[in-house]
Order: sequence, then structure tokens, then C-alpha cells
Amino acid sequence: MADKNKDTLANLLNEDRSFPPHADFAAAANVKADAYEEAKNDRLAFWDKQAQRLDWTKKWDRVLDWSNAPFAEWFVGGELNVAYNCVDRHVEAGNGDRVALYWEGEPGDDRRITYNELSAEVNRAANTLTDFGIEAGDRVVIYMPMVPEAAIAMLACARIGAVHSVVFGGFSVDALSDRIQDAGAKMVITADGGFRKGKPSGLKETVDAAVERCDTIENVLVVQRTKQDVAWTSKDHWWHETVSNASSEHQPKSFDSEHPLFILYTSGTTGKPKGILHTSGGYLTQTSYTHHAVFDAKPDSDVFWCTADVGWVTGHSYIVYGPLSNGATQVMYEGTPDTPHKGRFWEIVDKYKVTTLYAAPTAIRTFMKWGDDIPAQYDLSSLRLLGSVGEPINPEAWMWYREKIGGGTAPIVDTWWQTETGSIMISPLPGETATKPGSAQVPLPGISIDVVDDDAKSVGAGGGGFLTIGEPWPSMLRGIWGDDERYKKTYWSRFENLYFAGDGAKRDDDGDLWLLGRVDDVMLVSGHNISTTEVESALVSHETVAEAAVVGASDPVTGQGIVAFVIPRGEADSSPEHLSELRNHVAQTLGPIAKPRQVMMVGELPKTRSGKIMRRLLRDIAEDRELGDVTTLQDSSVMSRIKEGLSTGSDE
Ligand code: ATP
Ligand code: MG
Repeated sequence: MADKNKDTLANLLNEDRSFPPHADFAAAANVKADAYEEAKNDRLAFWDKQAQRLDWTKKWDRVLDWSNAPFAEWFVGGELNVAYNCVDRHVEAGNGDRVALYWEGEPGDDRRITYNELSAEVNRAANTLTDFGIEAGDRVVIYMPMVPEAAIAMLACARIGAVHSVVFGGFSVDALSDRIQDAGAKMVITADGGFRKGKPSGLKETVDAAVERCDTIENVLVVQRTKQDVAWTSKDHWWHETVSNASSEHQPKSFDSEHPLFILYTSGTTGKPKGILHTSGGYLTQTSYTHHAVFDAKPDSDVFWCTADVGWVTGHSYIVYGPLSNGATQVMYEGTPDTPHKGRFWEIVDKYKVTTLYAAPTAIRTFMKWGDDIPAQYDLSSLRLLGSVGEPINPEAWMWYREKIGGGTAPIVDTWWQTETGSIMISPLPGETATKPGSAQVPLPGISIDVVDDDAKSVGAGGGGFLTIGEPWPSMLRGIWGDDERYKKTYWSRFENLYFAGDGAKRDDDGDLWLLGRVDDVMLVSGHNISTTEVESALVSHETVAEAAVVGASDPVTGQGIVAFVIPRGEADSSPEHLSELRNHVAQTLGPIAKPRQVMMVGELPKTRSGKIMRRLLRDIAEDRELGDVTTLQDSSVMSRIKEGLSTGSDE
């Protein structure tokens, strides 16, 4: 983003479609326009009020202490127990018979767990952890498949003040042992394995190899899920022989509002993983409020389904802490969307009458590619609200989601946030905002966001630049585990007194925000900074394209030339005519400056394990370089398959 004479980031894509909420939906919405007003008048009073959604054993003295910026303290002096807020209080309120989790195993086995049952199991697990010598402040690594015990283990840690670090169950021995060592964890909670893609996939073996390298680990607690053979050491204990025999009575202790709740390592596309630290009171306040406001949560009638893995922040905030703090009924699914068939998600929506579905653009684009006829075979009429998170959602994918999944009526909330922000920061309010395909639209009440240029000056309507956060927020990260300097340098050094998130964004003429991808991926073409998102969205708006990734490859004439990798919708047509049509389509949609130099038809794209496109590796291909680090790829063989199957089109 070097050129000072040009816009910080070009604004090329125009969107005229807009969908106001249905009158009935708007009338019954949890949060309405006055929330913006209220928060604007007194931001801290607004958050003070939201913190009262929770049960505290000691009220806070001050809402915010920012005197040691950028290290924030929220609800200073307050005390609470996070697990009590997510479980016990719903039982005490008479909702113990309400289903907390409808769990669906990949092979089709299922379990339903009421709040009464959840309470008993969390208490047993808390007693067991205490028996194993885990105390408040100790770190526990959780390396699990998507089974209820993953959430139970997290809540058990929270209940006794232990700090959990959930490591995604697909990570390698290296990744797991790095994270155990970085946190100095005393215990690992895992399972023999989980079911994925139709077969048992082992976890215990990875834990065994990692624990061998980590002498801080004293005990390993193992849930039996697949019943596959596992090796056993003196540190290992079965969940069903320990937790299941423990007492279901447990007296929760109160912890300081700033007591650490968890560490979560960002997916770490490069470099040493960052252990993002979250604490208790502020985190729970904002996850609870945003689940209530953005998902319009109606705990006595909704069935909420967040399809993320608990290994990502989305699973922490919108499977465990947000929904459970609100007493929600949820679906939790173990497996992949195409096992045993491509209608699996819609079968689950139909079976549990899911009302609120929260998924990632990568999944939505995949469903689009698989075809409309698949969801059409199921009754999806229970869905009343849809959400998206993880990447910018291309307008065409948004429209498909609305029409084919949401029956043309369910509002879509495109939610922007990060591991670091802890909860949703930018999103429509579904009963208030007229939604626009592809735009995350507005900061939530109480959140201050700005798009700025190189000199930290706010860009006006129609301008693009860096997405920044101006004021501290309750669920913000409190630092990077063990590395305060890195925290300051990574997030607070690009602009003075502004948190810089790493993402580019623009403001349209209505003032709505559009996320434009990571600034590291921005392409510099003939002096214009062009976002990957806009070019990809233009490609996806062509009827033959399901998914696209673009990168800037060095070009002797233009500085960088745009190289596009495209996954077809239906039959692939990689004739020169068709590829040239795609290039022209982008030029017509966004202007000639954004015309790709080259379009390549591919069968798949390199993605991180949380489903985000890894453009860095595509840049290596486009520039014909040796491939960089591929260890965080979901499937490391994808790169050679892409290289083998490339069909190229460029006519200059
Ligand atoms: P790492 O920081 O280790 O590279 P990551 O950024 O992918 O990993 P997350 O914290 O899970 O890890 O993802 C946050 C990022 O995801 C955001 O900074 C943004 O780039 C992208 N993102 C999330 N939600 C949206 C959204 N609704 N629209 C656009 N981008 C989004
Ligand atoms: Mg990030």
C-alpha cells in the first residue's frame, strides 16, 4: 500500500440490492435502533448495562480501566463464575429440562443433553480436574473431536478457574506440542478419536507423541468415542472411569473479572503461533450480548447451530460461551458436510428444526457448487436467521444463501470479528438493518470502528483503507500469552492509539462497511491498490464460477498483474474463449484496471484448516516459485493437484 497519490484501497464494486427486515421479524427483534443511540450517548454506561445480563457475585467498581493502555481491564473489581453463568443459573431459573445440546455424530448416532445433565457433567468434570491437582490459573490443553465433552471440558476448566487452550483436533504433533509448551500446560484432555469423512480418525496417538516432548504434562484425560485401539501410559485416564464416577455436586468459586479464561492460538499462517489471551467478565459480557443481539436469540424457541469447530474462536464464542450464557438450545455436529452424503447439513436442519444457522463462506460456496437441488430436498422452513463468518462473503454467495437456504426471507448477518476481538464487532442487526449482499455493514452498538488511510485519517464515504478499532471493547484480547511486547508491536504500532486488525475495508456511499481481505494480500496494479475480495466477488458473480481466489504476481509492466484461480460451478469449461469471457466479465464489473492478466481453472483451492483461502501459496504458483510453508494447509497435497491440473487462459 505504498502509493500515496492514489486511494489507499480502491473502491470498485457497486451493490444496489438491499433487503429490509420483514415487519414481523423487526417487531419482535431483541435489539432495535435505540441501542445505537444509547451506546453513542454513553458507551461505558451501555456496556455497564450489558454486563448486568450476567450473574456476578460481586459487582464491579469501574466499567473500564484503560490507564495502562493497550492493556485493558473491564468491570474492574467484579467477580463471577463463567461456568455458573453458562449452566447453573439456567437450572436455578427452572430451565433444567431444556435441551442445551442436540449432538449429532457423523455416523448418525445422536445425544440430547439438557441443562440439568450438562450441569451434572460439568460438575463431575470439575471435581475430576481438581482431583488431578488442577488449580485456578493452571493451563489445560483440550484436543478433541466435536463431541459434547469438548464443551464440557472447557466449562469444567472455567468453573475451577483453570485456563483452557483448545487446540484444533486436526493439528499435528508439532503444532500440539508447541502449544502445550508455550502455555506450560499441566494436563491434556483428548479422545481416542472422532469420526470424520466416514471413518474414525485418531487423536490419542498425536497426543502421545506430543506429551513425550512436554514434561509439564502430568495427566491425560481420554474420552472414548471411536473405541479404536490406543496405546496407554501411566499418565492416561479414561473419562468414563474418572469423570463418570465423580460427584455431580460442585460449589463454584468466584473469580475476578480479569481472571484468565482461555488462550487460543490464531491459525498462524506464518511464524510462531500467537497465544491470544481472553479473560472472564468482559469476554462473557460481549459474547452474551452479541449472541442476543446479532442472532436475535430467543432461548425458549430457537434452535441455534454454529457449524464451526470448537478449536476456533467461533466455536468458543458461539457454541460455548455466548449461546450457553443465554440458555440457548443448540445443535453440535461432529463431522463433515458431505458424509455420508452432500445433504448432511440440510438433513440436520430439518431433523432438529434449526432456526438460526451460522456458517462460513467457504461452506456456502461449496454448497453452491454442489447444486441447488441438494438443499431443495429438505424442509428448511424452520430457518429464520442466517449468519456468515470467517471471510468476506461474495455477494453472489450471499444471494444464494438467502434464496436457497433462507427461503428468500431469512435475514443474513455477515459478522466480522477475529480471535483477537473475542466476539462480533461489525454486523447488521437483523431486525433493524436493511441488509446488503456482501457487506458486514455497521459496527455494533458500543463498538467504534474506523477505516483510515496511511496517515490514520478517516476515509470518507466511497473510500478504502485500513480497518481500525478506536476504543477498547469488553471482549478484546488482553495480550499475547507471555509476550507483552509482541502484543503491542502486532496490534498497536501501525497507528498511534488505534488497534489495527490487519484487514482492509471500504465505506460505501451509505456509510456501510465492506471487508476487503487482508492488507498483505492487496494487489498493486499500475499504482492502484486493488483488493482480492472485489475481484473474487466479480468472478463469483459470473454464473459459471463457484469460487475464486486472486493474487498479485509481479509483472514487468504493471508492477503486479492479477492472476485468478477459479473453481467452476458445474461442468468446467477451460476453453480460451471462456477464460477470456471471465476476464472481460471482471473488467466490465469493476473497470479495466481490475482485469485479470490470467485466469486458471482449478478443482480446488488451498485452504487453512478453518477454511480460509491461502493466497500466499497461490502467489508462489503464479510467480512460479518454490512453495512456501504448507504445514497449516488443510490438505497438503492440494498444491500439487492444483499445479498438475492447471489450465491457463490469458490472451495478452
Ligand atoms: P491468523 O491471524 O493466524 O492468520 P486468522 O486471521 O485466519 O488467522 P481468525 O481470527 O479466525 O484467524 O480470523 C479473523 C480474520 O478472518 C479477520 O481478520 C478477517 O480477515 C477474516 N474475517 C472474519 N470474519 C469476516 C467477515 N465477516 N468478513 C470478512 N472477513 C472476515
Ligand atoms: Mg488474524
